[in-house]
Amino acid sequence: MLDALTVEKHGAETPVSIREDFPILSGTGAAAGAVYLDNAATTHKPTPVLDAIVDYYTTANSNVGRGYHRLAFAATDRFDQARRTVASAIGAGSPDEVVFTGGTTDGVNLVAATAGAELVGPGDQVLITGMEHNSNLLPWRRLCEERGAELVVVPVGPDGATSLEAFDAALGDRVRIAAISHVSNVLGTVNPVREMTALARRRGAVVVVDGAQAVAHRPVDVAGIGADFYCFSAHKMYGPQGVGVLHGRSERLADLPPYRVGGGTVKGVRFDEPVSYVPTPARLEAGTPDVAGAVGLAAAFDYLRRLGFEQVRRHDAELVRYAVSALGEIGGVRVVGAPERDPSGIVSFVVDGIHPYDVGGYLDQHGIAVRCGVHCASTFLDALGLLGTVRLSFGVYNTTEEVDEVCRALRSVRPGTWTAEHPNARFL
Ligand code: PLP
Repeated sequence: MLDALTVEKHGAETPVSIREDFPILSGTGAAAGAVYLDNAATTHKPTPVLDAIVDYYTTANSNVGRGYHRLAFAATDRFDQARRTVASAIGAGSPDEVVFTGGTTDGVNLVAATAGAELVGPGDQVLITGMEHNSNLLPWRRLCEERGAELVVVPVGPDGATSLEAFDAALGDRVRIAAISHVSNVLGTVNPVREMTALARRRGAVVVVDGAQAVAHRPVDVAGIGADFYCFSAHKMYGPQGVGVLHGRSERLADLPPYRVGGGTVKGVRFDEPVSYVPTPARLEAGTPDVAGAVGLAAAFDYLRRLGFEQVRRHDAELVRYAVSALGEIGGVRVVGAPERDPSGIVSFVVDGIHPYDVGGYLDQHGIAVRCGVHCASTFLDALGLLGTVRLSFGVYNTTEEVDEVCRALRSVRPGTWTAEHPNARFL
């Protein structure tokens, strides 16, 4: 049996279960007794992250980068420290390469609206893979529609992976931007982003990586990957919701016009002078930022660092392999893709003759939270020829016993009220 990870605790003689760090796991109401296997949607938050947020609001709350009093200086220090922590955690060249955003979706939209608008014109191409989440698809699709450009999709194979050969073949001379996910949120497929980036940049394309599903499961080294932009969300890596990061190579960020304009982006404004914007990252962070969110994100990185990615990856791999093997023993259940190839905490499956929503609803009746449906990636499900899947996604607190609970419930699942013809059958 594989337990949740353990952590060293001050004053405790032996390491204690990590589950004790997550108050919601012993929570009441909707949280009571839940087996939570929907971590790719959002992870739970550990006490150190919650404490960091409360501490910020109780000891340093103020506005940043503008006030001229000690509390404003304290808040600004916390915000700057958070940026330094993130920069060092992801291997950024400098803290100035870290732009705080509202999350992955916000980061991709920022790049599309700024770099995208400057780079892409009529007849140009934007390249994405066939496995993209809508957040790394719709901003590019809209940009192409607005600019008279073409959205090119690199096909995925039957195993749900994009081959380097297919990617290379799609990289024609007209590709200005290649936008690729690091890890698929549907199947957990890991893209060789370093190699893909090298190929695309060699052909002159700007590379944007959606790292939403990578950051909680593997150490991300943005300098090593070498992309122009790398986006992720705090809430999928044990941090708070509504905040994230856009990492940009400094020379790329330096060229970007402001995304939104407003307070914090300018040196000063006069009606009779052109507007002079401050350098990035502040130029791209108009308005009051989510300071507590940034502080919470930094605390989440500290938390993961203390756990160690070696341990996190081993835990992921054991859970994924266990789930693939246990699900494989249930008649009518088929795991999609090859999640055990490079485990990233996700196992998606289908049950013969039963709509994924019916499976998800049945598991919920057993107190098990999973995601079912198209996972905001209906075009990927179309490519796989599936109506949807049921997705188990693991976090550091999950155990093989919880996988056993899923399997026990699946043995008695029956077709329910959902059909392929239902108007919302491919909605979520
Ligand atoms: N990209 C991927 C691969 C995702 O899994 C998600 C969220 O599920 C997103 C982008 C969007 O993230 P957010 O909603 O935090 O902006």
